[in-house]
This record gives sequence, structure tokens and C-alpha cells, in this order.
Amino acid sequence: MSTRRFMISSRAIRDGYASFDGDIYNHMVRVLRLGTGDTVQLADEKGMVYSGTIDQVAKEWVAVKITSSSSAPPSDSTAPRITICQALPKGDKIDLILQKGTELGAHDFWLFGGRRSVAKLRDDQQESKLERWNRITAEASRQCGRPGIPEVSWRPSAVEAANDTEQELRLILWEGERENSLKDVLSASGKPTSVIVAIGPEGGFDPLEVRHFSQHGFLPVSLGSRILRTETASIAILAIIQYMWGEM
Ligand code: SAH
Repeated sequence: MSTRRFMISSRAIRDGYASFDGDIYNHMVRVLRLGTGDTVQLADEKGMVYSGTIDQVAKEWVAVKITSSSSAPPSDSTAPRITICQALPKGDKIDLILQKGTELGAHDFWLFGGRRSVAKLRDDQQESKLERWNRITAEASRQCGRPGIPEVSWRPSAVEAANDTEQELRLILWEGERENSLKDVLSASGKPTSVIVAIGPEGGFDPLEVRHFSQHGFLPVSLGSRILRTETASIAILAIIQYMWGEM
């Protein structure tokens, strides 16, 4: 098995040792069952990567002796930054989208209230939901050993999402599109530095939303004749773009 990498805070490191309790302890010791003598990699928010050996495992904390350190190569630096602009889906589907999207290398997630989103996010729920969603991407980043944690942010509607857009390539996955296939659009496009993809909720996009995104430079594309669930569309588009332009 290759050495596992953990995302840590630079504050955990002191005098040649790093010690952890809480989530990292649980993941290292309880979930992965690592123990004394096992080697691990630690990556912090400043881009440093440490190699170390587990030195001591106590009941609620673990200490790692640092054996070497280096600054991380900018991982996947040639891949475009991909923003998933996702209409809020029902129930806990969003958890899946955030978790799998993080594994597949999404740069960040913009969630927005779609006109046909059944799920609504009240103003007073925003803070706690965002905290929870950002915890999911942090946990998934740790799990898959990617550097950096995708940020999850909220926009009340497609209008705010479209208005905020700065990405070079802009796509809207639209089930009503009959002409532009994703394949044609991607093969005709040079590799962009950033991409944003808008994905509708279970009920699909309202024509007004499609028009609004189009006015902001989003190209409507089809994923073919089958209608995918919103979470499938979101996960599939990331895998496709990573295959095309990322390091897959
Ligand atoms: N209820 C809608 C389908 C919504 S599917 C209907 O029956 O028409 C949810 C979202 O996934 C869509 O808004 C779109 O963003 C994406 N999607 C699913 N299948 C797609 C396809 N074949 N082409 C493009 N986008 C698709």
C-alpha cells in the first residue's frame, strides 16, 4: 500500500513531531489502523509536505516523528480549475455530489437555488449548512489525499451565480439541448485555465435560467439522449473534464 497522505494544520507540527487528536487521529488509527512504525505523509495548508513515522499511539492522540519535509509540487497544476455550479438537489444528494466531486478534483462548488429546486435553503439555515458542506469537502480531501480543500459557497439563484462568473470556459448541462454535444464542444475548445459547469436540479432548468446563463457566456451542452439524475450529471462531467484536461 502506498504511504497515506493526511491534510493537517501547520500548527500541529512542533519540534520535529506532529501530534493529532480528533478527526485525524480517528482516521489514522481507527479507520486505517495505522500504528507505531508506519510511515505517513502530512500536507499542510502552506503547501509543505512532511514524511514521518508514527512514533506513539495513545488512547486519544497519535504522535508522528517527522523524517523529512519539502514544499509540495503544485499538484495537478496543469489541470483546469473546475467549478461545479450546482442547483440545490433534494435530501442528502448534495453530500454525494460534494464528496465524489472532491475526489474527482473539483476546485470549488457553487450551490444555488434553482427555480425548480424542490429543496429550499432559508437564510437562517445558510450558515449551518455551509459549515456542514465545507466539512464534507474537508473530510473527502483528507480521505483521498488531495491538497487543498474545495470551498462550498451559496448563491440564492442562477442570476447571482451567472453574474459572479469569471471562468474561461462556461458550460450549462441542459437536457433540452439538441445541437451541441459535450464531446463536440470539448474537442473544439483549447485547454482552458478554468471551467464552470452549471447543473440543474431534479426538475431540470427553467428556460429563464438557461437564457440567463447563456447571456453570461455559458454554452448549453447535451450529455446525450438519456436523462441523468442531477448527481450523476455532476459526477460524470468532472470525470470527463479530468480525463480530457486533467492528470487522469
Ligand atoms: N426533469 C428533467 C431532467 C433533469 S436532470 C427532465 O425530465 O427533463 C437534472 C440535471 O442534470 C439537468 O438539469 C442537467 O443539468 C443535467 N442533465 C441530465 N441529463 C442530461 C443530458 N442528457 N444532457 C444534458 N444535461 C443533462
